Amino acid sequence: MLESPLLEHLEGYIDGTWCNADAGGSFTVTNPVDGATLARLPAMDRAETDRATEAAHAALYPTPALETRRQWLLRIAETLHAERHELGRILTLEHGKPHGEAQGEVLYAAGFFRWAGEHLDALGPRTLDERPRDCRWTVHQRPAGAVGLVTPWNFPIGMIAKKLSAALAAGCPSVIKPSSKTPLTMTALFHLLDRELDLPRGFVNLVTGPAGPIGDALLEHPKIRVLSFTGSTGVGQELIRGSADQVKKLTLELGGNAPYIVFDDADLERAADQLIANKFRGGGQTCVCANRILVHRQVTGTFAEKVAERAAKLQVGDGMEAGTDLGPLIDRSGYEKVRRHFNDAVEQGAKAVLGSDPGVLEEDFGGFFPPAVVTGVTPSMACWREETFGPLVPIASFDDEEEAVRQANDTEFGLAAYLFTGDDARAGRVIPRLEFSHVGWNTGSGPTPEAPFGGMKHSGYGREGGLEGLFEFVEQQTVPRGDA
Ligand code: NAP
Repeated sequence: MLESPLLEHLEGYIDGTWCNADAGGSFTVTNPVDGATLARLPAMDRAETDRATEAAHAALYPTPALETRRQWLLRIAETLHAERHELGRILTLEHGKPHGEAQGEVLYAAGFFRWAGEHLDALGPRTLDERPRDCRWTVHQRPAGAVGLVTPWNFPIGMIAKKLSAALAAGCPSVIKPSSKTPLTMTALFHLLDRELDLPRGFVNLVTGPAGPIGDALLEHPKIRVLSFTGSTGVGQELIRGSADQVKKLTLELGGNAPYIVFDDADLERAADQLIANKFRGGGQTCVCANRILVHRQVTGTFAEKVAERAAKLQVGDGMEAGTDLGPLIDRSGYEKVRRHFNDAVEQGAKAVLGSDPGVLEEDFGGFFPPAVVTGVTPSMACWREETFGPLVPIASFDDEEEAVRQANDTEFGLAAYLFTGDDARAGRVIPRLEFSHVGWNTGSGPTPEAPFGGMKHSGYGREGGLEGLFEFVEQQTVPRGDA
């Protein structure tokens, strides 16, 4: 079992109180390295979720002053910074990513709280310069109501930071449901919120357990006015269908299938370095990881060699051990998906420049998949059509700009894309035609707290980060005053 001063309570947190599941049920959280049990947490149900929602709704008024919210946000940022080592350790043990990278994720999370705290004034009231209808008009940014925040396992603290920072900035109380694969980092975060902040009772609530009844309860309760979800497109589509009766506002951060385009005029060393940093982050299990590498035919061989040479040096192992670059994949199904993509590509004629089939994984842990690089990838292959979510680098070739754009857009997803070229005019032509909301130009960099990020097409809607993200949890209320 995992011992940590931040995990004093292995419980949910409802209405300001740590609590177990009503029926006493629990679920196990394991280490993906060896399947060891880390902890047992309450398997909560609809009743606990509804109670959390009522508590959040009761905490809605009076709306905390902007200055109070700013202090909360900045305090959380400071606390995450101070606790990054231990939070990172918990994160690594339940997720598998290297400890240094996990601490980087904690600092990334802190950045969202800090940025929101420093830019909260954007949510202050605005009085119009004009006086239409002989009134003074003021536009207020009101909290949208109690909100549901549902997060995936691949960034156990990064994803909640994006949502919770904006919800707190807006003055919205929340009901939070972490992934049941990685709920411990969230439990530790709640320990810190409870310890460091004097939040009104019910302002933040943690409901743990497998999704089914919790997700349904959040979707169906009329007092949850915004449901912000990050996860797979399939679940996002279910939420869209299920939200119609309530006319519930959704923000959806869904799957990706990022193209990484390398033109023959690009700096290939830079493109290869950036690809390694981008592709192997989180073991390749991020929504912004390059999923299809599209390279000009004349430089495909050279570029593939450069990438393979770098990827071959990556150390695969336990994320708590020094020198590890890549941890295990989250579970057997994640591992078997990468294996299927690799084998399908090779069976359909792709050439393995690095790696081979590492064999069936018998257990639901220990999914250490060594980096693999294949060339000759085509649109009929699974690795082209689906999000691989693992350390496979599939490389396809194109002959001209037109074909590169067509290949890049050949997906229903529209999250991140990357483009490497030494020709600014070419970038100016290509970038506007890429149907992706984030386009890295000579960089493999993903999102940052200062800028908006979100999806197009099947990658969802709504934005997190930047000023745009601050506005996701507010409703504008316009007040014309006739006697002023
Ligand atoms: P997932 O299976 O969709 O689960 C995400 C979260 O939703 C988990 O907390 C899960 O709980 C919960 N959930 C599952 N079914 C639900 C339902 N019917 N109603 C409400 N909640 C439900 O996704 P995942 O495997 O954890 O995450 C990987 C996916 O997330 C990938 O597709 C990735 O691209 C995407 N992602 C997108 C972004 C972005 O910014 N666009 C960022 C990160 C990840 P349980 O764990 O209890 O099942």
